[in-house]
Amino acid sequence: MYSNKRLKSLECSSDLHQLLNSDMYQSLFEHNSDAIWAIDLNGMVLQVNKSGRALLPANSKEYFYTPINEWITFDDENELYETLYSEETHHFKGKMKMRHLEKSIVFEMTSIPIIIRDEIIGRYIQTKDRTEELRETNDLKSENAYWESFINHSADAIGLFDMEGNILKLNRATEDIFLYSREELLGGKVVTIPDESYREEVEFLQRKVKSGKSVVEYETVRKRKDGQLIDVAITYSPIYDENGEMTAMANILRDITERKRNVEVLRESEAKYRLIAENTADMIRVLDLDHSILYVSPSHKMILGRRESDYQFRNGFQYVHPVDLSTAKELYQQMFKMKQPVNIEYREQNVQGEWIPLEARCMPVLDESETITSIVMVIRDLTERKNTEELLRNSDKLAVIGQLAASIAHEIRNPLTSLKGFLQYFHSNGDDMSKTYYELMLSEVERINLIVSEFLLLAKPQTSKFSETHIHHLLSHLLALVDSQAIMENVEITFKIEEEIPSIYCDGNQLKQVFLNYIKNGIEACSYGGKIEVSVKREDDGIVVLIKDNGKGISHEELEKIGTPFFTTKENGTGLGLMISQKIISNHKGNVHYESKVGEGTTVKIHLPLYHK
Ligand code: ADP
Ligand code: MG
Repeated sequence: MYSNKRLKSLECSSDLHQLLNSDMYQSLFEHNSDAIWAIDLNGMVLQVNKSGRALLPANSKEYFYTPINEWITFDDENELYETLYSEETHHFKGKMKMRHLEKSIVFEMTSIPIIIRDEIIGRYIQTKDRTEELRETNDLKSENAYWESFINHSADAIGLFDMEGNILKLNRATEDIFLYSREELLGGKVVTIPDESYREEVEFLQRKVKSGKSVVEYETVRKRKDGQLIDVAITYSPIYDENGEMTAMANILRDITERKRNVEVLRESEAKYRLIAENTADMIRVLDLDHSILYVSPSHKMILGRRESDYQFRNGFQYVHPVDLSTAKELYQQMFKMKQPVNIEYREQNVQGEWIPLEARCMPVLDESETITSIVMVIRDLTERKNTEELLRNSDKLAVIGQLAASIAHEIRNPLTSLKGFLQYFHSNGDDMSKTYYELMLSEVERINLIVSEFLLLAKPQTSKFSETHIHHLLSHLLALVDSQAIMENVEITFKIEEEIPSIYCDGNQLKQVFLNYIKNGIEACSYGGKIEVSVKREDDGIVVLIKDNGKGISHEELEKIGTPFFTTKENGTGLGLMISQKIISNHKGNVHYESKVGEGTTVKIHLPLYHK
C-alpha cells in the first residue's frame, strides 16, 4: 500500500532518529501522560513513551522496529495507514485493542505527522485512554435508564416536587390513576384533593417531609378527573443532593380503593357470620389445628354457664366427660382424615360441675388447596331431647306396666286364694296346725312380696345409673315378673347361662326394661303353648343375650318398620317398645339384631360390650 514511499522514508530515518534522541524531545515525549508511539512511514515502531509502555506487556522490550499493528489493532486500520502520509493531523475515535493485554481500550487518538524539512518522515500516534470515562457515563446512563424504566413501569403514581410543592416530574402511572394527562397535571391547575379541607393535610405532609422526615403509607382520599374519589396510600420522602442539601420531595401514591373494598367486603361478611354466631341458641366454637379454641359464642354462658375466657385458647377437649373422651377424639380425628363433618355426642361439664349431654357437629374449614385451616363446631344442648327420650321411655314403661297389671293381679290372687284357704282351714280346725302349711303360706306370701316389689321397682321413674352388674341377676329378677303372664298365656320360659359371664357396666333398670320388652313381645307372639328361650353367652369383648321365641315371626315388611315409633300390629300395642329398647342398647354402645321367619319364630340378639368408653 505504501511501498512506493518506502525509499523516501529510509532516507529520512536518520533525521528522525536524531530527533528522537534529542534531550528536549525526550523529556517531552517520555513524560507525556498520553501514550505515544513514534512510527516511521512503514508503520514500524521506533519509540514508545512511558504511558505507552504501561499498556504493553511488562517483558516486551522487543517492540522496536516491529509493525505498530502487531501491538495495537485499530477499528479501521486502512484509515490509519491512509493518514500516515497525509500532512494533516488526524483525530480518531474508536476502539483500540491491545493485542498483548487482551483488553479493549476505548481511545481517542491523534495521528500527528513528523515533518522535518518539509518532509513527512514519520508520525506520532498519540492515544488517550477514554475507557474509564466512557464506562462511567455508560454506567450512569444505564443506571438512569433502570430507574427511569422502573419509575415508568411502576403501578404507583410517582411524582417529584420542588421544595415549594411544584410538580417537577410525574411517571406514567399517574395518568392511569388520576385519568389526567401529565401535561394537565404539570400545568399545576389541576386539583386532585377532594375538597379544600384536604389542603391542610397536604401542607401538613409537606411540612413533615421538609423537616427531613418520611411519611409512610399515609391513607387518604384523592379525586380523579372523572370526579370519582379513590382511596390512596401516600409515601412521601425528602431527596438530598450530594452536599446533603434537601432539593426535592418524592411522592409515591398507591391506589388502594380495591384493597379497601376487599377488606370492607370481608369485614361485612365476617360481621354477618358473627351476628349469626352471637345470636344463635346453639353454641359455636372455632378451633385451630392444635385443638385450641379460638372463638366461643356467647350462648356458652347460657348453656354451660362458662365465660368466654374459660375457653379462649384452651384445649377443645378440656371439659369433656372422661368416659366420652376417647370416642370424641376418635371421631374428631376421623373428620381430619376424611375432611368431612362428623357428629359427636358427648357430655361436657358445666360451671356447676354437672354433665350436660351435647351433640357437636364438627366441620373442617378448607382453603382453596383443600387443606384444613380451622374447625367450626356447632354444639346443641341435648338435655331437652334426653328428657323427652326419658319421658317416652317412662310412658312406654307405664304402658307395659299397665298391661302387666292384669296378669300380676291374677298372679297375686292365686297365692292369696291359697292363703285364704289355709286360714279358713285353721279357723275351723282349731290349733291342729301342721308345720308344712306354715311353710307353704310363707312361700306364697314371699312370692307376692317379690312380684309386688319388682313391679314397684320397675314402675318407679329412675334417673340413669351405671354400675357393674351381673346380667343373670337382672334376668332372674325379671323372669319372676313375666312368669305370671307366661303362665297365664301358657308359655314356657327357659333361662340358660352356658358359662361364666362377667359383669358389665350398665344401667340395670334400663336393661331390665329392654329385656322385659323383648320377652313380652315374645310371649305375645306365641300362641297358646309357646316356648321362649332366654340365654346369655360370652362373645369377643362383650356378652350376647338371646331371646328366642317360636311365635308367629315377623314378615319382611314388618321387619323394615320395626323400631320406628308407634309401629305396632297389636290391638293394645304402643309401638314404642322396640324403639326405646334400641335407644337404651345404643346408649350402652351395644347393638341389636332380629332374625325371624314367619311361622317359625323370632330370635332377638342383643350384644352389649363389657365396658363402653
Ligand atoms: P308393641 O309391642 O307395643 O306392639 P313393639 O315396639 O314392642 O311395640 O313392637 C312393635 C311390633 O313389632 C309389634 O307390634 C310386632 O308386630 C313386632 N314384633 C316385635 N317383637 C316381635 C316378636 N318377637 N315376634 C313377632 N313380632 C314381633
Ligand atoms: Mg312390645
